[in-house]
Amino acid sequence: MDKKTIAGFLPEDLIREFKIFSQPGYRVGQLLCWIYKKHILDFSLMTDLPEDLRFNLNNFMQPVSLSLRKESVSADKTVKYVFETGTGELIESVFIPLQKRATVCVSTQVGCSFGCIFCASGLNGLKRNLSAGEIVSQLVCIQNKHPLNPITNVVFMGMGEPLSNYEQTLKAVRILNNPECAGLGARKITISTCGLPDKILQLSKEKIQIELSISLHSADDALRDKLMPVNKIYPIEQLIMCAKKYTEITQRIITFEYVLISGINAAKHDALKLAKLLAPLRCKVNLIPFNPVQGLDFLPVSLSQVNIFKSILENKRINVTVRRQRGVDVQSACGQLVRG
Ligand code: SF4
Repeated sequence: MDKKTIAGFLPEDLIREFKIFSQPGYRVGQLLCWIYKKHILDFSLMTDLPEDLRFNLNNFMQPVSLSLRKESVSADKTVKYVFETGTGELIESVFIPLQKRATVCVSTQVGCSFGCIFCASGLNGLKRNLSAGEIVSQLVCIQNKHPLNPITNVVFMGMGEPLSNYEQTLKAVRILNNPECAGLGARKITISTCGLPDKILQLSKEKIQIELSISLHSADDALRDKLMPVNKIYPIEQLIMCAKKYTEITQRIITFEYVLISGINAAKHDALKLAKLLAPLRCKVNLIPFNPVQGLDFLPVSLSQVNIFKSILENKRINVTVRRQRGVDVQSACGQLVRG
């Protein structure tokens, strides 16, 4: 019999599961405290749980559903983890420590079907969606490796398109946000999407104040069609209208991600077109200097190209940040995660 994964349950659902063990509801709180607060994943070490419960947990449940297969530590202390799922696929997640913060980047699918041409995750297509338990397990396993370094932020920017695995992604968000589970503030959780208007509108009605990032990468439909085939289905105008609606409903600012690729979308006219497109929106732009990906011929931009692009946007009163490159040497930077 397959064991149920505790990381995939909200406390109220786990209380229902515990009825078969004839245990009072407060045992769930004790169990979750061991997993999420004390970072202990071995039932035999959970000493305030009765022995028969620990025996049953061992037989019928597992804290997480992933096994660690490989970890690669970058010179900047970013760590890329390769996990094996219960059905034998490999997925990747990244731990990014930064002074008082520690961010984990999680995957939501095995591979990706959207085929953005600058991204390694889509190179082999989509194999399957991950369950909420598999998504949350990534954070639990990584926190277990860094017990003294509390994870403060989670970004859904690893392999896969989170909003095309909507139900499981949202369930994972609610588990991460729940005070008895990971207890992360909603504003510390970011979902990144390639731009699926229906799902963005659905998300706007969830009444959860998470951060939303939309990968834009070009303000020109012809170019965006080539970079991100999803644009042929949902062109820029439709995406921007939907982004406007999202900000009206949620009163939250959207971040537009823009990967800068030399000779493709990083020229002055690209910046001017982007500024014009985003001027009517309450938003922020996050510029991401392209990270080299094996098998892809694109060239990274120079620092001066990044600065020129940034100052053009700033002159048009667009709020801009530049993402620091982390973990490039272990292929864990943005767009470098590959399906194993
Ligand atoms: S950028 Fe996102 S949506 Fe596009 S292929 Fe990569 S993982 Fe998929």
